[in-house]
Amino acid sequence: MMRIDVRKLNVQKKYSGSMEFDYSPPESLIEIPFVKFAGPAKVSFEYELFEDDSLEIRGSISYRLEGQCSRCLKDAAQSVEGELNAYFEPRPDFEDYGYTNGVIDLTKAVNEAIMASMPFVLSCGEDCEGLSYNG
Ligand SMILES: [Zn+2]
Repeated sequence: MMRIDVRKLNVQKKYSGSMEFDYSPPESLIEIPFVKFAGPAKVSFEYELFEDDSLEIRGSISYRLEGQCSRCLKDAAQSVEGELNAYFEPRPDFEDYGYTNGVIDLTKAVNEAIMASMPFVLSCGEDCEGLSYNG
């Protein structure tokens, strides 16, 4: 679980720092046909915890896609990197993003960052020749 325990950070007076998680994203985040995640995503960021218990994170996500090239259908793999920037407030009705009971669940923010970074196609490389049609 990707969680930040705000109560614990307050007790330990760790108002800023960095964190890293390995995360297995749901395949439903991928809209490219015949493509899946090749292993867990790497999530890393710096955080800052403010006096009102709101918390900001700035960092990156990286993951690898594998499957069939969207143009020529050969086996292909591609590494993707994206930005992860999010702001959390300690109230349940805050859209981007709220939390309750002193614990932040990062799943929604990370899933949205993965979706934002997702390429539209998977490519086997710059020299992809596409499908060749005869006749
Ligand atoms: Zn190709």
